[in-house]
Amino acid sequence: MQKVKLPKFIEPVKSATKRSDYKGVMMTSDMARFLSAVATAADTVEAEVRFDKDEQGLNFFQGQLSTSVELVCQRCNEQFAHSIHTSFCFSPVKRKAVETDDEVELPDIYEPVEVNDHGEINLLQLFEDELILSLPIVALHAEEDCNIKRDEMQFGKIEPADERPNPFAVLKELKRD
Ligand SMILES: [Zn+2]
Repeated sequence: MQKVKLPKFIEPVKSATKRSDYKGVMMTSDMARFLSAVATAADTVEAEVRFDKDEQGLNFFQGQLSTSVELVCQRCNEQFAHSIHTSFCFSPVKRKAVETDDEVELPDIYEPVEVNDHGEINLLQLFEDELILSLPIVALHAEEDCNIKRDEMQFGKIEPADERPNPFAVLKELKRD
């Protein structure tokens, strides 16, 4: 199946009315910020997004993104493969609604996303943000794959505590007398 490139801009309200469904790819070469956050990235991001209206008549769109990257392990400095699978659920809001207090209270499941003056959202930027947010705060190998083992991090083995009574227990006894 041919992979369609998703549009960079989209009109979410119009798409919700049409109940549009998109399945396609976005190019990571269009995502400079994302590329700078990872060591290497696959050429494409697989994206699925569905626009719809809920029972309250609120427009929303939800879907998922997946791609694979390589990150630099913060423990051993080697690169390792990391898969990204992240899902989202947004509701488009007008700029005015964001700035005033009388905005429509969005249910918690929706993250608000601002539409521009043309009623569009920058889907590319939005997805790029989602991908960046999905990255681990500290990139680390799985412990068993890391070149620096946890034992080496501990500067020698710590002997298990012996069975002698706590010396302070003796003091406690003295105090009692
Ligand atoms: Zn590592």
